[in-house]
Amino acid sequence: MTQLELARKGSISPQMKAVAKSEGVAAEFIRQGVADGTIVIPSNIKHANLVPCGIGQGLRTKVNANIGTSSDYGDINTELEKLRIAVDAGADAVMDLSTGGDIPSIRRAIIAASTVPIGTVPIYQAGIEAIEKYGAIVKMSADNIFAVIEENCRDGVDFITVHCGVTQSAIARLKRQGRVADVVSRGGVFLIGWMLHNERENPLYEQYDRLLGLVKEFDVTLSLGDGMRPGSLADATDRPQLEELLTLGELVERARQAGVQAMVEGPGHLPLNHIEANVQLEKTICKGAPFYVLGPLVTDVAAGYDHITGAIGGAVAAAAGADFLCYVTPAEHLGLPDAEDVRQGVIASRIAAHAADIVKGVKGASDWDRKMSMARKKLDWTEQAKLSLDPERSRQGHATHASTGTACSMCGQYCAMALMEKYLGVMTPKC
Ligand code: SF4
Repeated sequence: MTQLELARKGSISPQMKAVAKSEGVAAEFIRQGVADGTIVIPSNIKHANLVPCGIGQGLRTKVNANIGTSSDYGDINTELEKLRIAVDAGADAVMDLSTGGDIPSIRRAIIAASTVPIGTVPIYQAGIEAIEKYGAIVKMSADNIFAVIEENCRDGVDFITVHCGVTQSAIARLKRQGRVADVVSRGGVFLIGWMLHNERENPLYEQYDRLLGLVKEFDVTLSLGDGMRPGSLADATDRPQLEELLTLGELVERARQAGVQAMVEGPGHLPLNHIEANVQLEKTICKGAPFYVLGPLVTDVAAGYDHITGAIGGAVAAAAGADFLCYVTPAEHLGLPDAEDVRQGVIASRIAAHAADIVKGVKGASDWDRKMSMARKKLDWTEQAKLSLDPERSRQGHATHASTGTACSMCGQYCAMALMEKYLGVMTPKC
């Protein structure tokens, strides 16, 4: 039985117990959330060394890091190093988006090395294999796509992005819309090209029951992808995006009826004042399904700093109820991220997630900040580093320009913390 079926029967699985423990909530809360579909626990029965992670309402906001090869860079060891860096930096999940080299071997190595849930986008491999075998993506068959999905499930992938909401109707609406940046989802483009060339409906939509049957066998969570996500602020919250969301809402319900866990992916590029509405729309239309946002990026013009652009959008989205943030690295829009880009991307998204968790009232979130404030007041640099989101960076920052006194070199002997204690005789309060 899947986690969803177990939860509906009233059973608390070891995975639910583990999530409850790590979140500091009752196991019954997790069971109810999984049963309602507002919490998912992506945990393929074949992923042996997985530490279960819950995503959804009432839980800590989670962060995903995308790694993977491209057609230009295809080294497996580099990707394994990125996995290590991402997990060390605090990523809760990792997606292998490899499109270069031996894709199945890279995926298997990443799953074997990972204790966090692993996600993939199987249409990438299906499209690339079609180019190798038949000379073009448009020549792949529906069976080719499902064969790759099955291979991903058998390998132990915990969640897969499937662009089931890219329908002929949504494409027609896209054409009528006349977007600035058309479609920026790689998987979405693969499917749209195939659908237009073959004048056929999306097999992932048309044969959705087949997909559900396949993933259910391994308890793979569906991440219903947003192939129509805006890739420009000018295209945000437009008709094709919303049509796809309506379809995804229906597909979430069908997944739940089949006992399959599902979450929903969202934008993309959005101006700040669209973000809350996008979260409310997803939560309403998809009946509380966990919302997995890709950024969102709040401006199009910050290439080189898009981890910041994404963190601003991610904080606002998560504070409004988004559950899962896909990181954005400084390399976004520029090239394949390297290990340092991965680290910076994870940290930026974790800042966004934590800032939102304070507002969401997630257990322990505010206490963490209070403890840090106390350590700052005490000028306890060891404790401050320990409590920092990136302890090493904190240590280095303090050591780089050392002070001759107990304060830091910013104000030196005029340290406000130290002076207030001296002048007012205020004792440092207990944490
Ligand atoms: S020296 Fe200034 S910046 Fe440094 S701890 Fe004291 S008040 Fe803060």
